[in-house]
Amino acid sequence: MARAAVPGRLGARLRWKTARLADRRPESSAAHTLVFDVPGWPGHLAGQHVDVRLTAEDGYSTQRSYSLASAPDGERVELTVQRVTDGEVSPYLTDELAVGDLTELRGPVGGWFVWRPEQKEPVLLVAGGSGLVPLMAMIRVRRAAGSRTPFRLVYSVRTPEDRLYVPDLRLDDPGLDKTYLYTRSAPPQWPRPAGRLTAADLSRAGWPPEFEPTCYVCGPTGFVETAADLLVALGHAPDRIRTERFGPSGG
Ligand SMILES: Cc1cc2nc3c(=O)[nH]c(=O)nc-3n(C[C@H](O)[C@H](O)[C@H](O)COP(=O)(O)OP(=O)(O)OC[C@H]3O[C@@H](n4cnc5c(N)ncnc54)[C@H](O)[C@@H]3O)c2cc1C
Repeated sequence: MARAAVPGRLGARLRWKTARLADRRPESSAAHTLVFDVPGWPGHLAGQHVDVRLTAEDGYSTQRSYSLASAPDGERVELTVQRVTDGEVSPYLTDELAVGDLTELRGPVGGWFVWRPEQKEPVLLVAGGSGLVPLMAMIRVRRAAGSRTPFRLVYSVRTPEDRLYVPDLRLDDPGLDKTYLYTRSAPPQWPRPAGRLTAADLSRAGWPPEFEPTCYVCGPTGFVETAADLLVALGHAPDRIRTERFGPSGG
């Protein structure tokens, strides 16, 4: 690596660290933000993720990746976990892990799907469901830095009740435009009927390709592949489209 691209030395970032759940708050009926204190946390960039390891009393251990939701804040990090029905790990994190409980985190991980306040080009954020999490970290870092870099967020979610970070996204962030798309049911009088993301949505709510925005796309695998294909078809250069796939299912 030619320069210090990400905080913390690689060896230290790959080491498991004990994390204590300091607080938790609901974000929707299926998603909770978990606030951890992680002694020795090296800091992170918006867009990075961590691995979370759970170990049972009989020694069985399993791990999953979760994006960092918060801007850097000392040794405190926030994750937002959406419950996957029949999932092994996410229901435990959303419903059972209690304040004071210990778990293990490793990271931060990732150096490509990141946004830094030094970046001045326009930014398009395209989120499907819980794919909003790392994009919210970018919005929060932009806010904390007092950046005026123009951001546009296109957020596709099943229903209004499934939206994450509702109070936070109501805050006034000059230069951040937000567009909500609903796939299953839209609020009454909503101008766009419920349905999946289309080229027309991205053309209307995104940037023209000649503005050369960096596009960050995150969500379920099918959503990410569709959105990236639509952006390329609209004329965005593939090397300006950065993607993060959360999981196998669509929706
Ligand atoms: C880099 C990265 C960052 C991630 N960040 C987040 C995050 O910030 N918040 C978050 O909630 N999740 C995030 N995920 C997804 C997360 O890692 C888990 O895959 C998810 O929580 C499901 O784990 P589970 O153990 O509950 O389900 P599993 O027991 O692994 O799977 C149960 C069933 O659900 C399906 N499934 C697995 N993952 C998903 C998914 N994401 N969506 C829909 N169906 C799925 C499986 O195919 C299987 O049928 C991220 C994934 C990656 C790779």
